[in-house]
This record gives sequence, structure tokens and C-alpha cells, in this order.
Amino acid sequence: MTEMRRESPYQMVPIETARTMIMAHVTPLDSEEADALSAEGRILAVTISAPEDVPDVPKSAMDGYALRATDGLDARRVVAELTAGTQSGLQISPGTAARIMTGAPMPEGADAMIPVEQTEERDGVLTIQRKLRPGDNVHTVGQDIAQGQPVLARGTLLGPADVGLLATIGVTRVAVFRRPRVAVLATGDEVYEPGGPRPAGAVRDSNRYALMAAAREAGCETISLGIARDDYTTQRDAILRGLDQADVLLTSGGVSMGTRDLIKPILAEIGTVHFGRINFKPGKPTTFATAGGKLIFGLPGYPVSSLVSFEVFVRPALRALQGAARPERSLVRARLAAPIRPSQGRPEYQRVILSWRDGTIWAASTGSQGSSRLISMRGANGLLFVPAGDEPYPMGTELDAMITGVL
Ligand code: AMP
Ligand code: MG
Repeated sequence: MTEMRRESPYQMVPIETARTMIMAHVTPLDSEEADALSAEGRILAVTISAPEDVPDVPKSAMDGYALRATDGLDARRVVAELTAGTQSGLQISPGTAARIMTGAPMPEGADAMIPVEQTEERDGVLTIQRKLRPGDNVHTVGQDIAQGQPVLARGTLLGPADVGLLATIGVTRVAVFRRPRVAVLATGDEVYEPGGPRPAGAVRDSNRYALMAAAREAGCETISLGIARDDYTTQRDAILRGLDQADVLLTSGGVSMGTRDLIKPILAEIGTVHFGRINFKPGKPTTFATAGGKLIFGLPGYPVSSLVSFEVFVRPALRALQGAARPERSLVRARLAAPIRPSQGRPEYQRVILSWRDGTIWAASTGSQGSSRLISMRGANGLLFVPAGDEPYPMGTELDAMITGVL
């Protein structure tokens, strides 16, 4: 039997140091071409500028009449009807007007348009109820987007409006950063597939599936490496297999002080361990290593610890690998809706429900914060940063919170 160690050989690093050390090893992956019109969720690898003006000709902003402002309030003869999509070649001379629909190109000679509600037309004669100035209700060339204007910056995470913008300016192919390939390995003799039989006392592998889902949500492709028994060679082989196929490797479990916790020694053998403990709750034994330029995160076994560590340490790295201009989640100041008890020795990320009420963002705890209690993450849309302390923080205390869901 192996002796149980009493002290970890790894120095405890502060949260910020850990995050800085990780980022120091991240360089964005290469880029690839993608269909711009379905590129939501991808991150732009180039800045896109408008190849042309939008609109490219002056257009009517409403339904009404195109006319010359200088004709004042005089009655005008209606000479034509212009609908969106027509190219008329029509000339509006003094004393005339044309019916015009929203989005139709303005005819030559007309410098303003008046909405139909402010007019009367009888027997082809138009009278208007107010004076116009040149340019009134006309969409000018380049008013929405000017030719050459940067429209979307490198590092932008593309959303639905961005897809629309790219379509508007006729850009159908774009360079985006390659999605990182993330391999996930579960470890543990007590860990079994969720769908199969399970001896009494065994746990179902929730971590591998939750971590793969989290990696996909962060824009990555995932590779499942299955469950490795608590055996040095088995786990090392699985890790090497993962490094062969992936840019990033995540392991679950096997990083604590037990005699069957093998991940740290394996990572030290095949690569460089940059840190093996973080002064942080939940997830103190979170480990970060690199091997052959690839990133390896040894995440703890307890389901909450593994997902919170993913959120705080892994997700920003996955976003930075995709070249994101803002790899971090947004931070807000939130007020405690009820008192909470901090952890004595370690700063803690507590799962909370953030909500907006009376001009303030309030943070309500999701309940007991035990590391095995995955249900404490259900419905949470934030991680509240709770500095270490001896006394409860009273209701109304302002603390930083990371927005992890929909506020
Ligand atoms: P370990 O860090 O390997 O000692 O794991 C700590 C605890 O986390 C174990 O006793 C299990 O209850 C739990 N655990 C480990 N791996 C998983 C997993 N893949 N899915 C769910 N729970 C796990
Ligand atoms: Mg284990």
C-alpha cells in the first residue's frame, strides 16, 4: 500500500495568478473560411469593411410623394408611381411629383419626400400640408453603412445581427478562427456510464457530459475519451490519445490527495505542470499543464467543482484560443438578497440567481453550496465572488458577480 501524503507538493496560487499563467500559454488558433450566412457562434479572424454604400442610391424612407422642396406649398401634378425595386429614369421637373413607396429609389430632380398622411391627391393634383426642406424623408447614399467603413472587427463573436450585416454588404464567405478541439476524459474506478448498469455506491459520469456541453457552448468541438480506471498506465494512455487528437484536454477527477489520484504525476511526466493548486473554492486541486503546445486542465471530480473551475479558468482560455476580443464573461456589481456565509480560508465563487429589481442587480443564493450538489447550479445565471472571511456578509452587501447565463 502507498503511504497517503499529508502535504501537497504544489504551491497554492491565487486565482488571478492562475488565470494569468493560463493566458500566457494561449495563442489563437489558425483561421479558416466559413459560410458567412450561417456563421453565428464563430469568431471573426479579419476585420470586415463595407465594399459599397448602403443604400447605394437615395431612397424614399416612407410611402408618399417624391417632389422638389423649392416648389413650396404650391400644388403639383402627379406624373408617375414608383415602387421599391423599380428603376424609373424619371425626371421630376418643377411643379411635378411622383407617388413613391418605401425603399423606392428617388427620381432625378426630386430632393425630398412627404409622407402620404400629410397630403391630399385629387384628379392627379397633389397638395401638401407642410413645407419641406431638401433631404426630408430621404435615405441618403451611405446613410446606413458608408463604403470602406469597418463593419465588424476581428475578434467579434458573430450573432444574428452580424449575419444580417454580412448579408447586407454582400459578404458571403468570411475568415473565422478554427473551433478548438477539446477532448474530455473522466477518471475513477467508481465512475460509470449514465445509461448502463451501475454497482451500488458507484456514481454516474456527469462530469464528462457536462464539460463537453460546456465546451460546445463555448464554441468548441468535443471528443469523448471515455472513463479511465484509476490506473497509471490506463490514464496516461488515454491522455496521450487525447493530446494526439485535440488542442485542449480536460480531465475530471484524480487530482486530489488520495492514493489513486494519478493525474498530477502523469501530467508532470508527459509535460509541464504550471500549477497544481489554486486558493479557490470550489476546485482547489485544479491543475494546469502544457504538453507539446497543448493545454491540459486537470479538473476536480466533484461535479460543481469541475464546472465552476471550467467557468473560471477554462472557458476564457477556450474563447481566447478562438481569437475572441473579449474572452471573459461580463462582470457586474450585485447586492446580496440575503446574508451569506463566506468560506474561512479561501475566496469562493458561489452560484447565484442574478435579477434586476428597483435599479439594482440582486444576487440570491441557489441554496446549499456543497461541491457534490450539482443541483446548486440549476437555474444559476451568475457566479458571485465571495472574498474569504469569518463573518457572514449582511444582506445588501455589494460584491462582484460573473454573468454566466441570461440576466
Ligand atoms: P476524485 O477527485 O477523483 O477523488 O473525485 C471526487 C468525487 O467526485 C468522487 O468521489 C465522485 O463522487 C465524484 N466524481 C468523480 N468523477 C466524477 C464524474 N465523472 N462524474 C460525476 N462525479 C464524479
Ligand atoms: Mg477519483
